[in-house]
Amino acid sequence: RAKTSARGRVEMFDDTLRERALTRLRLESDLRHAVEDHEFRLFYQPIVRLRDGTIAGFEALMRWFHPQRGLIPPSDFVHLAEETGLILKMGRWALAEGTRQLAEWQGRFSPDLFMSVNVSGRQLMEDDLVAAVTETLAAHRITPGTLKLEITESLLLDDPGRCLGIMEALKSKGVKLSLDDFGTGFSSLSYLHRYPIGTLKIDRSFVRAAGESDRRSAIARIITLLAQALDLEVIAEGIEKESEAEFLRGLHCQYGQGYHFAPPLPKEAVEDMMDGRRREREALAGVSALKG
Ligand code: C2E
Ligand code: MG
Ligand code: MG
Ligand code: MG
Repeated sequence: RAKTSARGRVEMFDDTLRERALTRLRLESDLRHAVEDHEFRLFYQPIVRLRDGTIAGFEALMRWFHPQRGLIPPSDFVHLAEETGLILKMGRWALAEGTRQLAEWQGRFSPDLFMSVNVSGRQLMEDDLVAAVTETLAAHRITPGTLKLEITESLLLDDPGRCLGIMEALKSKGVKLSLDDFGTGFSSLSYLHRYPIGTLKIDRSFVRAAGESDRRSAIARIITLLAQALDLEVIAEGIEKESEAEFLRGLHCQYGQGYHFAPPLPKEAVEDMMDGRRREREALAGVSALKG
């Protein structure tokens, strides 16, 4: 009996493995057509100035609207896209679309807005990212220095020399670089002054419960201090509570991003939000004008 049940388990295990392999294959073949079939959208998460809550810019986050399966989050396809190399085509699309959207919003709302686009390691190292950026910047008129690319620390370890060359070339095009999920990787601090990095993004695991005298809040504090000492901008990711925002404000952390302010939103929702804020500002200005 023990044998049967063990065998039953083995078969069950085989079944789930087979199913998973099939799901993966299906996902991979669907992913191949998704760019041409316009199944990707960018959502935009506001990045706010912690000082006064105004919107400084956005992070562009990819969403896949699968015709059968509905909305698929990046956690379910970015890894596969990297393994198969499809991320190169997807990444080029995201760069172009994020820049196009930025140009439109700078014209409509404010020329100071920035846009931060995620770039995978493969994309930075294999694609001709400098050419893609040059092309994109020629196609869309944006304020110099307002396009940012987010890369992760682990990327810097692969081929430091080549990586540095590409980063310098991007910088010379006026593109700024941010280190995403900072604190979760393995890079040595010496990378921070060797590479042309403009912004540190404190990973949300260190922001969670920041301010609740947790050991993690020490890490958020130290990263903020480090950024200030090196004259880098700093963004705290994943702020969900006012207590976390308050703590970071106390550290003079410049920017915050998280559900507490706004989740990643479709373009139309961002525009409603920006219009609403503009009306509020105008109403306030009207009131103070009346007061004399
Ligand atoms: P990331 O670049 O670190 O993006 C931040 C993630 O945190 C986003 O998840 C965002 O929705 C989520 N987030 C924002 N605020 C909060 C919060 O208050 N609480 C919590 N729990 N989460 C919050 P998302 O959109 O699912 O993206 C996951 C990851 O997928 C991104 O992490 C990024 O590494 C990758 N990704 C997304 N879009 C792209 C893309 O266009 N290209 C590439 N290469 N990677 C992308
Ligand atoms: Mg990011
Ligand atoms: Mg991040
Ligand atoms: Mg993160």
